Amino acid sequence: MEEQRNDKIPATLIAGDGIGPEVTKATVAVLDALGAPFEWDERKAGMSAVNDGGDPLPSATLDSIRRTRLALKGPLTTPVGGGFRSVNVRLREEFKLYANLRPAKTIIPGRYDNIDIVLVRENIEGLYVAHEHFIPVGNDPRAVAVSTGVNTRDGCRRIARFAFEYAVSHGRKKITIVHKANVLKALTGIFLEAAREVATEYAGRVEVDDRIVDACAMQLVLNPSQFDMLLCTNLFGDILSDELAGLVGGLGLAPGANIGEHAAIFEAVHGSAPDIAGKGVANPVSLMLAAGLMLEHVGRADLAGRLRQAISVTLLEDQVRTRDLGGTAGTDAFTAALIRRL
Ligand code: NAD
Repeated sequence: MEEQRNDKIPATLIAGDGIGPEVTKATVAVLDALGAPFEWDERKAGMSAVNDGGDPLPSATLDSIRRTRLALKGPLTTPVGGGFRSVNVRLREEFKLYANLRPAKTIIPGRYDNIDIVLVRENIEGLYVAHEHFIPVGNDPRAVAVSTGVNTRDGCRRIARFAFEYAVSHGRKKITIVHKANVLKALTGIFLEAAREVATEYAGRVEVDDRIVDACAMQLVLNPSQFDMLLCTNLFGDILSDELAGLVGGLGLAPGANIGEHAAIFEAVHGSAPDIAGKGVANPVSLMLAAGLMLEHVGRADLAGRLRQAISVTLLEDQVRTRDLGGTAGTDAFTAALIRRL
């Protein structure tokens, strides 16, 4: 057992764009100090790969993830409108990372002091398949925009099973299925139906209820303590998970995991923050919390717990915080303070 614990686990590291290299460096330093078992294979993606004259998702990066099946990824810049397709979406499709896990837990009490909600979002279906086109009318070639969402019964069952299994293995009590089956009767009706069907297999172990997405968004603000886990389609999960990040203090404290049958990629919920890139002021906690999820994923919940505890002590007791959280510490000073608390 002890011998197995000393084994290194190969993992792909993608520093990413904007503040990516800064928060990645900080996170790797903390993981090293923690004695985390990862052996990094550093690869490029996003603008840094494009600037090297290549594909934003080079085949060497894909090959690395195929081999390690595990990656820690900094944020990647995606051009709006034109330009290349989102590398994040390509990665999800390539590795069929069908589950997006976004836990939101209060560290710094603010408007709400006791949030502890885990959101599970379907990650590769729904409206984000982005089957889109325009229909010309008269002399306007883009007079009508059409977008088709796709939810499969198998995909809905798969994400529901992931959520219920997560609930059982993490001692969660209740799952709320989020939908808009009153209007999008087919697209989100099938999701509700499949999730309810899977729920019957867990009767007595995990409670289930459901909410229409708009009501859910309001209830999250009015009375978040009624929720334990949220199970969402792709678009609704994307939106509500940012709302959850807001409930616990913003993007600097929100981790995410993209999990499939054959690979898992861990990242912060925030983007590349071009407005503060290179200034040494980025908050690295989101990516560090994502690294905590990665440690849990490889069976090192012990190290994940130590990491989360040290983050909490540094932010709360030591009051060392980056600018976005009202503090004055730069990324490096925050990281050094955190390492002292490991
Ligand atoms: P963003 O999350 O990068 O930034 C939004 C705001 O939050 C900015 O003011 C930024 O300074 C601040 N912020 C974000 N992370 C922070 C941190 N760790 N510490 C302190 N402040 C932080 O969102 P955006 O500006 O809409 O997007 C910028 C780029 O990132 C876009 O190209 C977008 O496509 C991309 N993006 C990538 C991912 C990803 O790779 N997973 C996710 C979201 C956005």
